[in-house]
Amino acid sequence: MSAPAIEDPVFTLSCGPVEVYPAVLRALSKPVLYHYDPAFLAFYEKVNEKAKAALRLSNAPVILQGEPVLGLEAAAASLIARDDVVLNLASGVYGKLFAFWAARYAREVIELEVPFNEAIDPAAVEAAFKARPDIRVVSLVHHDTPSATINPLAEIGRIVAAHGAYMLVDAVSSFGGMDVHPEPTHSDLFVTGPNKCLGGSPGLTLLGVSERAWAKMEANPDAPRASILSILDWKEAWRSDRGYPFTPSVSEIYGLDAALDLYLAEGPERVWARHDLTARAFRAGVVAMGLDLWAASEAVASPTATAVRIPDGIDDGELRRAIRGRYGVMISAGMRETAGKLVRLGHMGPTARPLHAVIGLTALGGAFRAIGQKVDIGAGTEAAMAVIDAAM
Ligand SMILES: *Cc1c(COP(=O)(O)O)cnc(C)c1O
Repeated sequence: MSAPAIEDPVFTLSCGPVEVYPAVLRALSKPVLYHYDPAFLAFYEKVNEKAKAALRLSNAPVILQGEPVLGLEAAAASLIARDDVVLNLASGVYGKLFAFWAARYAREVIELEVPFNEAIDPAAVEAAFKARPDIRVVSLVHHDTPSATINPLAEIGRIVAAHGAYMLVDAVSSFGGMDVHPEPTHSDLFVTGPNKCLGGSPGLTLLGVSERAWAKMEANPDAPRASILSILDWKEAWRSDRGYPFTPSVSEIYGLDAALDLYLAEGPERVWARHDLTARAFRAGVVAMGLDLWAASEAVASPTATAVRIPDGIDDGELRRAIRGRYGVMISAGMRETAGKLVRLGHMGPTARPLHAVIGLTALGGAFRAIGQKVDIGAGTEAAMAVIDAAM
């Protein structure tokens, strides 16, 4: 006898890939055109214009044909030259991970690390430049998703720009869910994608590239060419009179187009507001229920995901099996250094709806109870509803 089939979840409250908007799903099912079909060439140009508008760029963005880890590795390979000193700012798992890529290309990587429930202090970045004026590239994860904490990118970007260095930013899980864009934050390479707050599918990278970053990459003899990691090869691929380095992921481009249409039509400010409200309702509910947030303070807590600390004696795997098994709610675990210490509920794209916080809290509370942790579900949902109603 075979095991019973596992049913699909009722709610996906993960931190990415996230639930996708229905319009994105429909777009993904369009006929796959030949990439040199004039209709596709014109369409690809339009998608790039929409990405430029969403990123609020004054120059053209770049679309890379793979989910954003490709973009991060490509950014490290292209921007960091072999005699560069890199300051890697690590406030979480992704920040820590970036040092591995940076070390592959840099002369030296200096690391500034803080506990993974805190944010980088801009004053510490200033101090790092004082100690090492030869820092050329600074890398930062804006929202370190496995901690659900936000770094002060704009302040750090200003310091990096003032020292003439280059700012390389992972904004994969914050862009589209809050007010963050490459140019106001002095980001020279800004890496994001459709599969988090834009509610698209995992398969593409969106890059904002400053003119000075283009110049640095073009002058870097080691920057990849004729490679899946090449940013330079894709530079003007959006132009219908140019060729592509290789076949773009045609279906993913349709999905991205639909996600960008939704984002721009709803209005970015409104999209950010519902991410923020959902997060505030979530956090109020977690605390009222008698649980602890992972983030050291409200000020560093993310508007696009919420991390809940696992109380002593509780097994996070058991908790996640309970919430998925009993209620059909899929959530995210910690990763590496945060594994076992927290669980994360994402509110990105279509799940950044205030009532999703109530659903998440109710299911999380029920799962905690089922495995023997006392929580006050009623107080949690009341607190969340109070936040939601105060915003009406
Ligand atoms: C999701 C995410 C990425 C992309 O990596 P995945 O393989 O999709 O997990 C990169 N950086 C951050 C901060 C992310 O949240």
